[in-house]
Amino acid sequence: MTAQRTSVVTGGAGFLGSHLCERLLAEGHRVICVDNLITGSVRNVAHLRERPEFAFIEHDISKPLFLAEPVDNVLHFASPASPIDYLELPIQTLKVGSLGTHNSLGLARAKKATFLIASTSEVYGDPLVHPQPETYWGNVNPVGPRGVYDEAKRFAEAMTMAYHRAHGVDTRIVRIFNTYGPRMRPRDGRVVPAFIQQALLDEPMTVFGDGSQTRSFCFVDDLIDGIYRLLVSGVHEPTNIGNPHEMTIRQFAERIKALIGSRSEIVSRPLPEDDPKTRQPDITQARARLGWEPKVALDVGLQRTIDYFKKLLAEREAQRG
Ligand code: UDP
Repeated sequence: MTAQRTSVVTGGAGFLGSHLCERLLAEGHRVICVDNLITGSVRNVAHLRERPEFAFIEHDISKPLFLAEPVDNVLHFASPASPIDYLELPIQTLKVGSLGTHNSLGLARAKKATFLIASTSEVYGDPLVHPQPETYWGNVNPVGPRGVYDEAKRFAEAMTMAYHRAHGVDTRIVRIFNTYGPRMRPRDGRVVPAFIQQALLDEPMTVFGDGSQTRSFCFVDDLIDGIYRLLVSGVHEPTNIGNPHEMTIRQFAERIKALIGSRSEIVSRPLPEDDPKTRQPDITQARARLGWEPKVALDVGLQRTIDYFKKLLAEREAQRG
């Protein structure tokens, strides 16, 4: 029998972090979830807290973290991740991507653990190459409002490769494209929670700009499966994980409206500064090296997400009543 592995997940009480904690527990790991709860929520891991293999530490990973026990994997997922969050928390976003990555890498190095950084399609900025392969270097405005996130993640990738090359740390870099599913924060401003809640409440659905910008949405279970496969692979190069099924934001609004059977009107709002015009992952590398591709169809994933938000809205209603 192999000894039980221990994985540290920073941002473990967030949307992706909490799904990752669940998957690692299901794979037989002991999980240490680290979160400072500025955008994460204990509610996301409440169902795990009774389990003896799960531990929660409230800590800001932008400050060093010392752990007594052996650690096999460090997965750095802590960061504000929605455009509204990183506009409100620009310094914290820069710190967790830079200092937080440095501290997480330091922990991995000290423990001789495998390190995995949650990077992002935002490293490609407003891309001039379409779809985006990992070899594309990106088109990022360093001083625009999104720069705090994009540059922090670009720094995080550079730091990860430096620890790999200079210290021989066993590293992984996942570039995560738009992902959706249960446990997205209701008011994080991202398009999925916004449209679903607006449609459920028959409120106007706010399409930014003319809605011709595109995104490609991956269901969270598919994404977590890709990340787990990357973790257990020997791939050190950045790897895109996302769903190549691309659509315009207007089509996306119409799809959600139809699935819910909503009476919402679709309205236009100003386009945020530096909002990327297109985004679609090239997943050739993930297919070839991880044997991974997404499996959950958009309507199926959306329905599960709609059910989640329906439940949340019903709970909110019950609390009021
Ligand atoms: N968006 C929108 N209405 C909203 C929220 C977002 O039209 O209420 C658009 C946004 O301008 C962007 C896309 O939806 O083009 C995805 O936005 P999100 O904030 O989810 O993530 P991004 O991909 O921009 O990081």
